[in-house]
Amino acid sequence: MRRAIFPGSFDPITLGHYDIIQRGIPLFDELVIAIGINAEKKYMFPLEKRLGFIKEAFQEEPKVKVMTYKGLTVDFCKKVGANYILRGLRNPGDFEFEKAIAHTNRKLSEIETVFLLTSSGKSYISSSIVRDVIRHGGDYTGLVPDTVRT
Ligand code: ADP
Repeated sequence: MRRAIFPGSFDPITLGHYDIIQRGIPLFDELVIAIGINAEKKYMFPLEKRLGFIKEAFQEEPKVKVMTYKGLTVDFCKKVGANYILRGLRNPGDFEFEKAIAHTNRKLSEIETVFLLTSSGKSYISSSIVRDVIRHGGDYTGLVPDTVRT
């Protein structure tokens, strides 16, 4: 069984995340969208909303599960029996950041990180830009799945 997790804050899920998840589905038997809980971080959307947006977006997709976790991502992988971490790459900044994390995770465990390159047309989308648009009353609907509503 090839089980992968796709970890992130998803505050909120964007069409960039959605694209990586859709393209990850055929690669694995099960894909767990793992919402990391960081007590130090301030979120725009409460956990229940972030969870709900994702669950609703993938309700027709039996291979996708949505869970939350605290602590190290590799520990969560072990807990749910996942051997792969899926991540998306948008730009050189993502690459450098992700490289260090993937190397560290390899040092701590056997878990492989699988990277998918962002689709052309999605690379500029980030949760932080979506939050800015929402904060300032802009039309965010073209940047997120239909299930994300304020
Ligand atoms: P974090 O809180 O770890 O930064 P995010 O919710 O921002 O989590 O992102 C989770 C994952 O989704 C990361 O691998 C990130 O690179 C990827 N991702 C986010 N936006 C995009 C996008 N537009 N295209 C491809 N991958 C993306």
